[in-house]
Amino acid sequence: MIVVFSGAGLSAESGIPTFRGAGGLWEGYKIEEVATPLGWMQNQKLVLDFYAQRFVQMQECQPNAAHFAIAELANHFDVVCITQNIDTLLEKAGVKDVWHIHGRIDYQKCEWHFGIPPMYAEWQCDYQAQINKPVQWGDLCPKCGKKLRPDVVWFGEAVDMQVDNLYKIQSQVNIFIVVGTSAQVYPAANLLKFFQDVPEKYFIDPHPNTEVLAGFTVMTGTATKHLPALVEAIKLKLI
Ligand code: NAD
Repeated sequence: MIVVFSGAGLSAESGIPTFRGAGGLWEGYKIEEVATPLGWMQNQKLVLDFYAQRFVQMQECQPNAAHFAIAELANHFDVVCITQNIDTLLEKAGVKDVWHIHGRIDYQKCEWHFGIPPMYAEWQCDYQAQINKPVQWGDLCPKCGKKLRPDVVWFGEAVDMQVDNLYKIQSQVNIFIVVGTSAQVYPAANLLKFFQDVPEKYFIDPHPNTEVLAGFTVMTGTATKHLPALVEAIKLKLI
């Protein structure tokens, strides 16, 4: 089994900027204002406007050669794609089963959908649905009447790590590919520890985080430069 763990760098060459190295800004916005529960409490309209822009941008962008390479890999092998990205470019490239541990831009949920693990279960609303237009200011949950918000994970919120599924696959993984992540956003970055004993590990990034590279074959450069070549090499070796 092959696990591909991706971050924002995978989609950079599709025209979706990352925010590391941009002074903590995401498309010119302060992260704490648009991607935290406190930001939501302080200015919900700003947060919704920000994600409405992301929704339109991400709908317009197309998968790049690295997304297609992952799809090609999944056509030939048992591949699990775990992504921190909220865009759906892997799906657009044809990858069927993607674990979006930070949520998806094309879903909405009730603001009382607190995520996993369930806390204060009696207060929660489990409404969640796919959307074809961004959440608008004033949109209310059809189930409980509270406000709707984008189904993305903000800093400080619980991440859907699918821990049970991770333990199910851990011993079966023989290739682990990490691409386009600073490996600084936790708990997502814990996946590098979780899969540390995988025999064959690759790390693709133009500025790889030197603190996490033990045991990896490091491919310094962009996703579109290295992933298609790596996939061809894996196919040559295993088919
Ligand atoms: P990140 O922490 O995953 O860091 C981005 C990494 O991508 C950096 O290490 C950088 O060197 C690398 N990179 C840049 N260009 C690249 C390329 N062409 N090929 C390969 N790697 C490249 O991501 P982040 O930007 O710090 O974002 C953290 C969180 O913010 C994400 O987990 C996500 O929730 C959200 N985010 C999502 C998107 C998206 O969905 N596309 C974009 C920006 C931010």
